[in-house]
Amino acid sequence: MITVDEALAKITALFAPLPIEYVPLRRAAGRILATDVAATRNQPPFAASSMDGYAVMENDVAPGAEFAVIGESAAGLGFDGTVGAGQAVRIFTGAPVPKGADRVIIQEDVSRVENVITLGQIFDNSRYIRPAGDDFSIGETMQAPRLLTPADVALLASMNIAEIPVRRRPIVALVATGDELVMPGEVPGPDQIIASNNFGLAALLEATGAETRMLPIARDNAASLALALKMCKGADLIVTIGGVSVGDHDIVQDVARDLGLETEFYKVAMRPGKPLMAGLLRDTPMIGLPGNPVSSMVCGHIFLRPALNVMLGLGGHPLPRELARLASDLGPNGGREHYMRARLGIEYSQLTVHPHDRQDSALLSVLSKANALLVRAANDPARSIGDMVEVIRY
Ligand code: AMP
Ligand code: MG
Repeated sequence: MITVDEALAKITALFAPLPIEYVPLRRAAGRILATDVAATRNQPPFAASSMDGYAVMENDVAPGAEFAVIGESAAGLGFDGTVGAGQAVRIFTGAPVPKGADRVIIQEDVSRVENVITLGQIFDNSRYIRPAGDDFSIGETMQAPRLLTPADVALLASMNIAEIPVRRRPIVALVATGDELVMPGEVPGPDQIIASNNFGLAALLEATGAETRMLPIARDNAASLALALKMCKGADLIVTIGGVSVGDHDIVQDVARDLGLETEFYKVAMRPGKPLMAGLLRDTPMIGLPGNPVSSMVCGHIFLRPALNVMLGLGGHPLPRELARLASDLGPNGGREHYMRARLGIEYSQLTVHPHDRQDSALLSVLSKANALLVRAANDPARSIGDMVEVIRY
């Protein structure tokens, strides 16, 4: 049995960043920027007014000063002439500041009679001009790799970049195995249950940026499983669920080996998730997850997300951990790392973690209430309320 760190290192070593593809800006949110992109223009491209008011010469500004209004500069249509002493140009937010002017007086500070404005005795002292390139200048870059947020999409649009270089989405083939499984919506036989993990894992993988192909459920016989594995051709990663422990019906490794699997490791010192397997099936990385619903989802977080991150060019780092205040006592841990289902919240301004009192790896209802994993090292001694412990938020 190897440790979680060792298993993660062996898994991430099976992957490399995928090729780059270009997507239209409208499809870029949530994708991973693959190469740095540079602004092709300055923003704003000219000195622009940040208020509605009058563009004047700073020198002329004094309480009670009068100006002759000689024209207008609107957003999208500037004023062609030059502002001279004692002159003003009516200006609006986003409009180019005309030549000669170096100050905008806000309209609230003046009174206007026909084409003459008079500045009040008290007025706002800001200049209200955004210099050219105030937001960004030509050549300034957005750096890769980076998960593109809605704000990034707005910035890329402003930079006038319409086609965005991103990593291709990893394609993951998901194979659930078991004679007892039927798909949600079907009518199960008396000894059957509904397949759940494959749906949870598909959601988890897609939330991490993958495209998933959910294959038909493989039955616990060699022919059915071999057929399912052959249907995984073309995937960047094959994930099987169940059939990988030591029961008579756990045939995944044997069948995959017959098809050319070279196992990298089998069994990890963790709870839940001990019967985890990884290897290469004819050059395609294959990860065999344990069948227990919670085990497969926890392993999905701990191992599959970093694996996808390698393919997305983000590196295969372990999921980040935070320290939280423990809300209940915990007994000593055994010889395997424990990833306890827990609820994280802020209490008295402090990040606090409540481990769930039921930790059976079959309980999806508990997993659904949890929002974090409380990580306990192998042989961690007993812990008391108030101790700081490591958590993985998800
Ligand atoms: P196995 O590793 O195949 O022995 O599966 C362990 C446990 O997980 C058994 O109780 C299975 O019924 C259950 N299981 C395996 N695969 C799934 C699945 N896709 N959805 C729900 N339960 C599953
Ligand atoms: Mg099974």
